[in-house]
Amino acid sequence: MTVLLNWDSLGFSLNPTAQMFVAETSLTADWSAGALRPYGNLSISPAAGVLNYGQGIFEGLKACRSKQGDVLLFRPWENAKRFYQGAVRLCMPPVPEDYFVNAIETVVRANRDYIPPYGKGSLYLRPCLWGTGEILGVGPAPSYTFVVYASPVGAYYKQGLKPIRVLVSDDFHRAAPLGVGHVKCIGNYAGTLLSLKSAKAQGYEGCLYLDAKYGRYVEEVGTANFFCVKDGVLYTPKLGSILPGITRDSIMTLAAAELGLRVEATDISIEQALAAEEVFCVGTAAVVTPIGALAYQGKVTQFQQGKVGPITTELYTRLTAIQQGDAVDPFQWVKVTH
Ligand SMILES: *Cc1c(COP(=O)(O)O)cnc(C)c1O
Repeated sequence: MTVLLNWDSLGFSLNPTAQMFVAETSLTADWSAGALRPYGNLSISPAAGVLNYGQGIFEGLKACRSKQGDVLLFRPWENAKRFYQGAVRLCMPPVPEDYFVNAIETVVRANRDYIPPYGKGSLYLRPCLWGTGEILGVGPAPSYTFVVYASPVGAYYKQGLKPIRVLVSDDFHRAAPLGVGHVKCIGNYAGTLLSLKSAKAQGYEGCLYLDAKYGRYVEEVGTANFFCVKDGVLYTPKLGSILPGITRDSIMTLAAAELGLRVEATDISIEQALAAEEVFCVGTAAVVTPIGALAYQGKVTQFQQGKVGPITTELYTRLTAIQQGDAVDPFQWVKVTH
């Protein structure tokens, strides 16, 4: 089958593929074997737990083609682990990690023709776990659905790295201490739409959130983890109410092992962040996105004259080289799907 897609015009928007994976379970049974079926609507009760009380989590990972044509996944076992822990936090039956990775590979194989050619982007995979059983009072739903669908997405930077301008929010928080900020749960995202809308209306492309207890320490940028560089040290907010990003972990590892930087996961006050030399954010979708300017309390601070810093560039280059199979993979991050 040939898929008629214009690979060069892909962005980060939904282009459904032929097949998706669906499996079900109840609170008392094991996961069903699950099966591929044509991509399409699901039938769901209006009383489903996920629709009424937000009992749902998701993941995001990418499959891409190497120069040789192999299909590569980046650290899928880490997504499996995070998905498992997220399910436990939301009182849902966790999907076993090997089951999760199998489902991902099943969807990749079934939609092989939708994986963009080398360098043109990737097949974005979206695993979801929802409480789909009916429940009236607040409580765990009686049954659950695990779905993996996919969409080809374009290369994030078609004309090279481009810095974004980010507004530091001092009237919205993303997550609270001891809450679910560290879980990729569906309820964490709608609450960021208004702050992002407001940031965009003021000419910014992203919103940086501060911690909810002191309103002083940097947390993260919407759906990407925060980093800054100062005097040869790479700083990133410590885990807690932020999402423990797999890209974040990879960047910390690369910076220490390959660039010889000291790496600190710690509290970063907004004043420290504004005094940094380079600032960027990272995630599966955003890859490594340079931040050219931060606006805080009416004042705009530029970094690297709004251009991309050398450490940001180096980390971007090294990460994407491993992800695309262009560089050796010393940490065994890449899984080839046959
Ligand atoms: C998914 C996500 C990230 C990035 O995590 P990766 O594992 O690197 O893709 C960062 N922050 C939030 C809030 C997220 O949802």
